[in-house]
Amino acid sequence: MRKNIVAGNWKMNLDYEKGLSLFSEIVNMVKDEVVGEQEVIVCSPAIHLYSISKLAAPVAHVHVGAQNIHQAESGAYTGEISAPQVKSTGASYVILGHSERRAYFGETDTLLAEKVDAALKHGLSPIFCIGETKEEREGGNFFEVIKTQLAGGVFHLSAEEFTKVVLAYEPVWAIGTGLTASPEQAQEVHAFIRSAVAEKYGEEIADNTTILYGGSANPGNARDLFSQKDIDGGLIGGASLKSRDFLEIVKVFN
Ligand code: 13P
Repeated sequence: MRKNIVAGNWKMNLDYEKGLSLFSEIVNMVKDEVVGEQEVIVCSPAIHLYSISKLAAPVAHVHVGAQNIHQAESGAYTGEISAPQVKSTGASYVILGHSERRAYFGETDTLLAEKVDAALKHGLSPIFCIGETKEEREGGNFFEVIKTQLAGGVFHLSAEEFTKVVLAYEPVWAIGTGLTASPEQAQEVHAFIRSAVAEKYGEEIADNTTILYGGSANPGNARDLFSQKDIDGGLIGGASLKSRDFLEIVKVFN
């Protein structure tokens, strides 16, 4: 079902204590201040998952996600974490396809498709990220780039499986740069993504797909971005590390 979601991606920040304390602040603020139906997701480093899932459990609309999984269920993969392990912490989402994983860890569409399958098999909903680099935007072929990422990462799924996926458009040139896509630029790509989903799975599934925007979203620009027809919320990096900023973004949907 199409939902409004504000998801935080803490990336590789916060030690154990600081993560718990930020999450507790977020939960308390959500309880006091959120009156809408929006869903709040925090994607933390693996060390926090179990403890923050316990804190999230009693609070409606607050969920926890991981930032990566290995494609295998278990085995000799030193340093990796599997989908069933993440699921066992109480988390229900996992970010896959983030441009940092694609760029720094060489994750390809083929590998990502395997990770998406592993997530779904073990009851985790993928937050699947797609987006073009600065060069690809300037070269004008960004729609093609995005279509290829969708086709390679998630369009092998059955319609039923696909309904569990959340998409996130994250233009690489906007991540951590302070250069947000304008609401019109973002809407143009979101509409394109929805039409690509419609072409593959039909209008009804496309209408019900949640598509988030990520890339220098903050309390000052979130309202304009989220008011666009095809933007259903945000995947927030830097601003998710400050409870007040994050909550202001969540409250756009109050
Ligand atoms: P920033 O909000 O820090 O630009 O990061 C966006 C992002 O990568 C979320 O996944």
